[in-house]
Amino acid sequence: MNLKDYVTVVPDYPKEGITFKDITTIMDNGKAYKHATDEIVKYAKELDTDIIVGPEARGFIIGCPVAYALEIGFAPVRKPGKLPRETVSVDYDLEYGQDTLTIHKDAIKPGQRVLIVDDLLATGGTIGATIALVEKLGGIVVGCAFIIELSYLNGRDKLKGYDMRALITY
Ligand code: AMP
Repeated sequence: MNLKDYVTVVPDYPKEGITFKDITTIMDNGKAYKHATDEIVKYAKELDTDIIVGPEARGFIIGCPVAYALEIGFAPVRKPGKLPRETVSVDYDLEYGQDTLTIHKDAIKPGQRVLIVDDLLATGGTIGATIALVEKLGGIVVGCAFIIELSYLNGRDKLKGYDMRALITY
């Protein structure tokens, strides 16, 4: 199956000049959604993964079925104020300004082998902050998996030294 056929490319969304890669047309096709999930499951098995970590919100959409298939846990990474118990947080730079991501302090046990899963790698800001959160808790980032990589934004540069896999590259 060519997964790229199921991505919808939306010009000028959310603002002019941005070409949005819409994965909802992967998700609403059962076979395409399963194929994307299965590919990341295979990768997770190669890495002997203990737990999946995914940033909100589209990291949940692909990370959760992977965790379910492997019968391992999933830990959500969220914007501030969304997780109910004690958290650790990391600030990261956006094109204009800063943002913060958080994770529950007890979500990962020191030494656990963590695969981070998100829908798309763009500038790498989100994945960089998510890696920092996992490492703050003593987790070992064994890999990062994406459905899509926008290679022209060089997000890979933020992943130097980490194993990574993307199912589709633009
Ligand atoms: P970044 O932190 O720049 O790597 O951006 C990562 C997040 O922003 C991803 O999890 C995507 O959900 C979203 N994103 C960034 N650029 C795009 C795009 N062109 N199309 C769809 N989603 C995007």
